[in-house]
This record gives sequence, structure tokens and C-alpha cells, in this order.
Amino acid sequence: MLVLVINCGSSSVKYNLIETSEERDVCKGMVERIGAVTSIVKHEPDGKKHTKDTRVISNHSEALQEIMNYLLSPENDIISSPSDIKAVGHRVVHGGEMFKDSVLIDDDVTEAIEQAFDLAPLHNPPNLKGIQAAKENLPKVPHVAVFDTAFHHSLPAHAYLYGIPNRLYRRYKIRRYGFHGTSHYYVSRQYYKIIDKPVKETKVITCHLGNGGSIAAIDGGKSVDTSMGFTPLSGLVMGTRSGDIDPSILFYIVEKEELTLNSLHALLNRHSGLLGLSGYASDMRDLIAEAKNGDRRCQQAIDVFCYKIKQYIGSYIASMNGCDAIIFTAGIGENSPLIRKKSLEKMGYLGIEVDDERNENAEHGKIQKISTDDSKTEVYIIPTNEELVIAIDTAKIAQATKQSPWL
Ligand code: AMP
Repeated sequence: MLVLVINCGSSSVKYNLIETSEERDVCKGMVERIGAVTSIVKHEPDGKKHTKDTRVISNHSEALQEIMNYLLSPENDIISSPSDIKAVGHRVVHGGEMFKDSVLIDDDVTEAIEQAFDLAPLHNPPNLKGIQAAKENLPKVPHVAVFDTAFHHSLPAHAYLYGIPNRLYRRYKIRRYGFHGTSHYYVSRQYYKIIDKPVKETKVITCHLGNGGSIAAIDGGKSVDTSMGFTPLSGLVMGTRSGDIDPSILFYIVEKEELTLNSLHALLNRHSGLLGLSGYASDMRDLIAEAKNGDRRCQQAIDVFCYKIKQYIGSYIASMNGCDAIIFTAGIGENSPLIRKKSLEKMGYLGIEVDDERNENAEHGKIQKISTDDSKTEVYIIPTNEELVIAIDTAKIAQATKQSPWL
């Protein structure tokens, strides 16, 4: 089934047109800087010429029109009619406590996504804009919401409750939700395909290390703990997000620097993490290059980043009472031998031994083992594919509903 996957940010729309029967990207692309003087439009059809242009695109609806025009243009030879697209899958960051699975989007679902605006003010509003824009452009097909939080719905109460008055959970649903669920789900499923053990008996730790980063403990196929929490701000040190800090620091800096709540929010979300620590960059490649040139703060940023990963891995081995495999994925996890090695060094006590040669020579884009053959815990690189999970879930739900006249 041909499914269009949409992932909307506040000023961007990413898309993938996926043929689910072949698990293949027919075309993918992105409209960036929506609403700026000029927007950037990229299209990457499979096996054909990729393009990058500038245009004036003032809102998400125009971005969707631009994408549809490109896909439908006879010159590009991708689809010949909107009816070739059988369903649309939308990435929605926060599903609150309500959604433990992907769902067909109806008025109730739209309202629930809106109700979660408070919980994810940076993500859910643009996600909903994307849904509305896609529905305007493709009104006759089923639209499905796939939530970043859904996979972590299985967290037990002892992992999702915070040590604050319980009435705050009951009244405002303040609890750990966890994010990157589709990625943790996908890479763990890829791992189950290559092993000879019933999923029920497996214990896995998945490390999604990209611009945002999170780690999940997956016991018997279910997420039992994860490093992001109420919002995607907690857990690991990220590109520009602080990750875990002592909450008292917030009172202290608000007083010392006379910050408003908005500037505190910006400080922790946009000026902290690797960028804040290094004072140089949020991009790991830049930090590694500068650290090699002897920059002490860039080196420290890398050290803190890896130390935090090591701590989470250790704590999840303790909470699951063991671990069969540690999986690295996303931009940094898939591409940086240095970060993988440093995050796992001196963990022989826990049965983790990285094979330096395998780690250094790992091929881009492939599933591969990078632990030694004697390592008690295996270590893998498994490339993530969140869009494919969204497309497959969408196809399943669209098939089940038979809502589309073209199915
Ligand atoms: P993502 O959010 O998954 O696209 O990941 C983005 C992050 O991956 C950025 O910090 C990049 O610097 C990092 N990254 C990509 N390639 C490499 C590489 N070869 N070595 C280190 N970091 C990388």
C-alpha cells in the first residue's frame, strides 16, 4: 500500500511516500523554514534526480500543496493521481495517557491531541497543523496518528511516577511518558528478527542518540523504563537540551539571573546540552573535530554526554536484572564509533566488551554486531526507521477500517 508519512515541526514538514509491501521509500523530502522570507524545498525520489529549491511558503497547508504538486507532476513520474495514495500517517509526539496504540484520526482524536498541547507545546500544535493541512489536500483517505509516547505505555507505575504529591499525577497527569517510542520499537523488533530466542525472554537496552536522545529498557518486548519523562527535556544530555538536572538549580538560576519562565524554558531547551557545555556547537561531528584539535570544553561536553549514557545503561541493567543486548541507533548512535566506545568502556564487570575493530569498521546503514564474541551482553548498531513504523501501522489501520474508497 502506498502511504504518505508526514512529520510536522513548527516551521517544517518532512514527508516520506512509502510502498509498505516493499518497505521502500518511493520519494521523501522536506519543506523547511515555512513562514520565513524564503523556504527551502527538498525532494528525493528513489533512483531519480534529487532537487533542492527555494520558494515562498507561508504555512503548513501550502507546504502540503507543494509536496502534492511535486508528487503529481507528470515530469517527476511518481504518482499519477491523489488516489494512488491510500492513507496518510502522521507522527504525533504526545498522546498523553490516552493512546497506547496508533489510531484513525476522527474528531475525538483531534480533540485529544489538542488537549495534549499543554504537555507538548513545541510539538503537538504543529503536528495538528500538519494533520489539518494533509486532510485538506487528501480529504478522501484515512489519516492515522502514530504517537511517540505509545510504545512506553507499558511502563509500570514505579517507573512512571515521580516522587511528588500523588494528587499532581491525578489532577494534571504529571508522570513519565517517554518519547522516540517508534524508534525504540523499530530497532528492538529488528533485533528480535536476528536472534534465536523467544521475545518474552529477552532484555534489551536501546539507545536512540540523535539531536534528541533517549534510552529505553525493553523487557520481554515491552518498554519498562525510559530516560525521557514528562517532556522530551529529561534524561540524556542532548544537542541543546539539558537532560536531567537537580530541580533546585531552576529556583537558583531564576533568582540569580532574574529569568522569566519563558527564558528559563529557552535556556534548558535551546541553549543547554552539548551546545551549552561546549559553548561551541550542538552537532556531535563538530564537537568531535574540535576536541581532536585540543578544545577542552568540547572534550568535556563529549565526556558528560557519554557518562550519562553509561549511567542509564547501568541502571537499566539493574532494573531488568540483566541485559542480552545494547542497541545503538540514530545519527550519533549509528555513525560514531567514538561515542559508542566511550559510552561502554570499563563495563566488563557487567559483561560488556566492545570489539574495537568491528566498532571502527562498522558499515553505514547496516545491522551489525560490534561486541566481541565473548561479550556476555551483545552490542549492535541497528539503523532506525521511524517512518516505516508509521507507514506500516497506518496501512494496517487503513486496511482494517476500509474507509478509503480506493482500497
Ligand atoms: P539525528 O537527530 O538522528 O539526525 O542525529 C543528528 C546527530 O547525529 C548530530 O549531532 C550529528 O552530528 C550526529 N552525527 C551524524 N553523523 C555523525 C558522525 N559520523 N559522527 C558523529 N556524529 C554524527
